Amino acid sequence: MIKCCFCEQPLVCRECRRPFTPRQGETHVGVYQADTAVSCPECQKILACKACGYVYGENDKSDEAE
Ligand SMILES: [Zn+2]
Ligand SMILES: [Zn+2]
Repeated sequence: MIKCCFCEQPLVCRECRRPFTPRQGETHVGVYQADTAVSCPECQKILACKACGYVYGENDKSDEAE
């Protein structure tokens, strides 16, 4: 089970609510690389943690005021 690097809860896709399981050979995937977008293998959407809402892929360098 992969844990969310932000809240350390089991990482579950917010969109489809399935546990995130990396494909074989991708044990550590890009989940822990902030600059790499991670897509859910089930629904193909950008992976977001269901527990805390952390999005694995949004490059949030700009202001959130938009
Ligand atoms: Zn989380
Ligand atoms: Zn999903």
